[in-house]
Amino acid sequence: MQSHPLTASDILIADSILRKVFKDKVLRGAKNPEDGNILLISDFSYFDALLGDFHSDIGMRERALIKKILAINPKTYGIPATKIGVHRVPKNLVKIPPHRYEYRGESRVIWTQYVTRPAYQAFQKMNAAMQREIGSGMRIASGYRSPAYQLHAFLRQWQLSGYRFLSAIRLVALPGYSEHCDSKHQAIDILFESGIPDNLDGYAQTVKLMTRSREYQWLLKNARRFGFALSYVPKNAKGIKFEPWHWRYVGK
Ligand SMILES: [Zn+2]
Repeated sequence: MQSHPLTASDILIADSILRKVFKDKVLRGAKNPEDGNILLISDFSYFDALLGDFHSDIGMRERALIKKILAINPKTYGIPATKIGVHRVPKNLVKIPPHRYEYRGESRVIWTQYVTRPAYQAFQKMNAAMQREIGSGMRIASGYRSPAYQLHAFLRQWQLSGYRFLSAIRLVALPGYSEHCDSKHQAIDILFESGIPDNLDGYAQTVKLMTRSREYQWLLKNARRFGFALSYVPKNAKGIKFEPWHWRYVGK
């Protein structure tokens, strides 16, 4: 294992990128400034910066940091993630507006999500079949993420982790390494109508509640015929924790 590539001066630059993104969101009237999807998809400036194109908001030092982060190979740090690569935001995204639901009497929100059209259509068919067969359905808790959004999420996590690089890369994938950025084989995080999974339950309890549910058992039997596959099965070779909510549209 190597010591990480990000330096103390990178912290200042990362903070500056995060401040600009935040300011941009407020200026554009984002209801929730944490809702990164809104601006990073509607505003391509940060994405262009990722691709190395000139943008006045992103300075030389910021672009250099973005390039440095894009060059990091997580395998070097013991994370055997698969490289998806950094690609342009696809044009076939379906927008799902924010909506509320309840879990244990508490109100929750899923902020704006985007999903590629083929994955969305397949999800809708699968959801309708589940409703018909077991009388219960599901929502998309997380869909497409642009590489710029993933970069932002990583920088935010790095900041929240007290700038501990190794902690951050275990919690948030680097840009180019998330299946949520893969518009060809779009990954979605599924949330059941019951409100499971919920962060407050903790990892072990969430997995237990989710895997014992009728909805999950139905998915195991039926998701494949709608083109969805579970990416991170228990003890997977990718070295990523079991994620019963993370399903990838692989097609039929
Ligand atoms: Zn996921």
